[in-house]
Amino acid sequence: MTLGPIIFLNTMDKKILGELKIQLEEQKVKILADLESVGSRSGGADVGFDVKFPDYGDSMEDNATEVQDYTKNLSLERDLQKELSDIEKTLTKMEEGTYGVCNYCGQEIELERLKARPESSSCVSCKNQLKGQE
Ligand SMILES: [Zn+2]
Repeated sequence: MTLGPIIFLNTMDKKILGELKIQLEEQKVKILADLESVGSRSGGADVGFDVKFPDYGDSMEDNATEVQDYTKNLSLERDLQKELSDIEKTLTKMEEGTYGVCNYCGQEIELERLKARPESSSCVSCKNQLKGQE
């Protein structure tokens, strides 16, 4: 028999859960600050960021660097957005009481793993399996 989310939540230390939540909130603040540094918040219902196009000058060299940095910032912005959405999803799970359960096998995620990376959504063995498929 596998442990369901409800059983697991009863066994999860509320203090640890609180600590992980604080860790996530801090990470979120940091990511938002990083996002603000590469782009500006775009309006609308979704929190999105428009990456700024740098302006270093008008020489060929400047323009090349601008494009290079812009491309770099675009991928940085994508990574940060991805991380941010992982964190938001995790915070929602904490509120719903489904936090700490592997997305793939439904077993509880190792506490050590959650402490190292609170937004983990898979247990160690599923993670390794997924890696093997890549
Ligand atoms: Zn798993």
